[in-house]
Amino acid sequence: METSFQKNDFSAAALTAVANEYGTPLYVYSAQRLREQANAALAFPNAFGLTVRYAMKASPSRAILRLFDGLGLHIDASSGPEVRRALKAGIAAEKISLSSQELPLDFAELVQLGIKVNACSLEQLRRFGEAFPGGEVGLRFNPGAGSGGNNRTNVGGPSSSFGIWHEFQDEVKSLLQSHRLTAVRIHTHIGSGSDPAVWQKVAGMSLDLVRNFPDIAHLNLGGGYKVARVADENGTDLQVVGAPVKALFERFAEETGRSLQLEIEPGTFLVANAGAVLARVQDSAATGAGGYNFLKLDCGMTEILRPSLYGSQHPIHLLREGDWLKGNTKPYIIAGHCCESGDILTPAAGDPELLQARDLPQSQIGDLCFIGGSGAYCAGMATKHYNSFPEAAEVMLEEDGSVRLIRRRQPLEQLWQNEVE
Ligand SMILES: *Cc1c(COP(=O)(O)O)cnc(C)c1O
Repeated sequence: METSFQKNDFSAAALTAVANEYGTPLYVYSAQRLREQANAALAFPNAFGLTVRYAMKASPSRAILRLFDGLGLHIDASSGPEVRRALKAGIAAEKISLSSQELPLDFAELVQLGIKVNACSLEQLRRFGEAFPGGEVGLRFNPGAGSGGNNRTNVGGPSSSFGIWHEFQDEVKSLLQSHRLTAVRIHTHIGSGSDPAVWQKVAGMSLDLVRNFPDIAHLNLGGGYKVARVADENGTDLQVVGAPVKALFERFAEETGRSLQLEIEPGTFLVANAGAVLARVQDSAATGAGGYNFLKLDCGMTEILRPSLYGSQHPIHLLREGDWLKGNTKPYIIAGHCCESGDILTPAAGDPELLQARDLPQSQIGDLCFIGGSGAYCAGMATKHYNSFPEAAEVMLEEDGSVRLIRRRQPLEQLWQNEVE
């Protein structure tokens, strides 16, 4: 489990300089890597046109939304507040599509602004129909199969509540009819970290759904493309996953005369390996023979929750005096700063309950710690404000070596500013 390529996106000297200037913990993004991933997504094989939507929950800061917007990506929002945030960031309403577990109370206002809604349940379809009789709507189906890195990221199949179960097509048709709605989009997203074979199978199942709805012009196959954060994980080659899907669309067109536009909605793929968390080793602990050596960081589940939530693996490297630390290694458990024994950055793969020591060069207090693969579901998904830690700052490293602060560290006063007594 040695270096993942993303370490090389950032020079040790540049990282040390930004850590010194902006303090730790700090999120660092590579603009170049974000652009490369966006361009790879835009090259997804397609037969009759492609829209790439950035699943903004992966990392929702304005600078990232705008960077992708500038490259021609659209937005997938998973909640009403995400739509508001994207609009506020300057994204055109027509480029935002909402597929959410909770249809926001103000969805009609958002639709009037121009956003697209995919009804993700029969109840959502009913509410949409009442608000916009005679309108156009998208349908999110649960195609009956799912795929995800684990049961927390799988969002298809019988154990998932996401989308309308594929066997309820008659109920869907009767709601469409009673509200004179036209279904123009079908959406399936089966999970994060999908197995490419399952993903392709679901693409075929999704086309079978499209057959039953004559006005569908767009088929959105969601996101879920795996990336390799550490060396023994396999990333997704979009060209490889996409080629058979393109062929399916072509065959579908021959059979039905319908040329469908493809939409994909990656989150992880676009940002995961474009970001890292920089933290400082602020203490250590040893627990004797048969115990462990712990390094305690000034970050934790407040910045990067994935290891303690999923047992996810992130590459970890130490820096000292402007250089990557090398030399004799020692097995370490990396502990976060929260008063929570589960706040561990080195769990066993896929099992957050188990500790798994990582061999790292012998470290000392004051060393910097680089936690790679932290661009997706870190800044946007954390146990925010636990132990009353403020949100960390975020910086963007540009290709020309310049650094842009894109989110300031949160002033502590903001933690209690809404308290009224
Ligand atoms: C989260 C989500 C995505 C993105 O998933 P990734 O695994 O990050 O690619 C895409 N579509 C929908 C509807 C989602 O909820």
